[in-house]
Amino acid sequence: MSDNINVPIRMLVFTSPDCYACPDVERIVHKHVGTYYSDMCHISTIDVQQQPKIAEKYNVRTLPTVMIDDEIVLQGLVTESDIRDLLWQQVTGSMMDREESFDARKETLLTISKNSFDSLLNEDFIRPNIGDYIHVGVMQQMMVSLVALDKLVPQLLYQAGKDVGLYGVGTYLMITLNPNIGTEFRAKERFEEVINGLVKYFSDNETINIPMKLADSAKIVKIKDDLAILRITGLASACGAPFVGEPLCHFSAGEMAGITQALTGKDCIVHESKCIGLGHEYCEFEIHVSDEPISRSQRESKEEYIVEDRSQHFQGILHDISRRLHESFISPKDVFNRGNISNEVHFTKLQQAIVNIKMADPFSGALLYAAGRQLGIFGPGRDILQRYLEDENYSWPLTLDQSLHVLNKFFHFGMMQAAKERADVKIIEEDGVLKVRIFECAMSSGAIDSGTTFCDFMAGYIAGRIQILTSKDCIVNETKCHGLGHKFCEFEISFVE
Ligand SMILES: [Zn+2]
Ligand SMILES: [Zn+2]
Repeated sequence: MSDNINVPIRMLVFTSPDCYACPDVERIVHKHVGTYYSDMCHISTIDVQQQPKIAEKYNVRTLPTVMIDDEIVLQGLVTESDIRDLLWQQVTGSMMDREESFDARKETLLTISKNSFDSLLNEDFIRPNIGDYIHVGVMQQMMVSLVALDKLVPQLLYQAGKDVGLYGVGTYLMITLNPNIGTEFRAKERFEEVINGLVKYFSDNETINIPMKLADSAKIVKIKDDLAILRITGLASACGAPFVGEPLCHFSAGEMAGITQALTGKDCIVHESKCIGLGHEYCEFEIHVSDEPISRSQRESKEEYIVEDRSQHFQGILHDISRRLHESFISPKDVFNRGNISNEVHFTKLQQAIVNIKMADPFSGALLYAAGRQLGIFGPGRDILQRYLEDENYSWPLTLDQSLHVLNKFFHFGMMQAAKERADVKIIEEDGVLKVRIFECAMSSGAIDSGTTFCDFMAGYIAGRIQILTSKDCIVNETKCHGLGHKFCEFEISFVE
């Protein structure tokens, strides 16, 4: 894979168990992709009976349907030679698009990264009204729900982190934290200084005015030649997490790889060998550098799409995180095991991950939406909604007007505000359409016009909450966003007939 196309092209195959043409088309697509494009493409099979929302989002009514990026390329019964020709045409087209969009993604990343630099060192807040921290629980809810939905996500997060490390301003921050990196030119010693810098980067430290609060502490377990092992305690992406069965800190691993690669000039891969998500007490990262190009094993990404029990397993984990999030506001106990630092993390870390995956893989918008919607329907806070509903003497199911009224109160509820995912919520009516407007949203604040919205998770969350209040299936579309050059995010609500 060329350097610019470091995220595979997403191919979606929509099928259903009772579709007679699907198995053939699916087999041929797998055969051709496996033979000619195995490094470049990732196939996700979507059973429309299990994932009706995703089929609905792409308006898929014929089976089988094959999509590349956001475009339908094959539909219905087609011959093998048709499939071969179309794949060739579409994959090459998509590769060229990626080359172009890579520059836009780099520019957006650099802006977000510069914003965070100004926030950290110059106390120039990106979100003037609520400040630049979010609760770690918010970050974990979003990350875990994404990982739960799709097997490609770990790889996307790793790559997002790596690009942030390579093209962001993390390298300048590293030199600020450890000036020796800038003066050491002997290869082996320089690698050691970079690792020393990473220790400071991931520790709560005073060099920075507004600390990132990425983790409680970090230390070197081992450093020898081309390998270093870094142990991190209280890392925001995993602290306090229950047993998940897989590592959770893909973005941090990728960021370490990108920063190390940029500062040593050597190829670098990072493997998270221990993680709180795997039942360990801390996270541990093996950092390998080499003068030769090295490739990371990507076993995970080769696996198939979602399975039922996996989503149930993750439902439990999400419930646990949400419960802790709630508990952290009412109890003085350190429920996220963060040691000396609070339950906050600089919001740009979450933003860098979300923005990067959204721009690299258009399908991630649908995944983020689905994840947010799940949390909206099944997540905590339903008791609060119920209380507001009773306060207003509304009888369930509510009208859209009523449910927005309740939702607005819910969004201003102290605990929701304290998580600092967003600053303010306004419900407005324009040309007879009801809209939800959100200011200083954690996913997009400070981003430049990048030609796309970034808050699909929030849109899904609003859809889920409205659905439980109105008992009607609804669709929420983000029409304004920082990612489109606006100063706030706006969501339009419509119902499925
Ligand atoms: Zn971890
Ligand atoms: Zn937005």
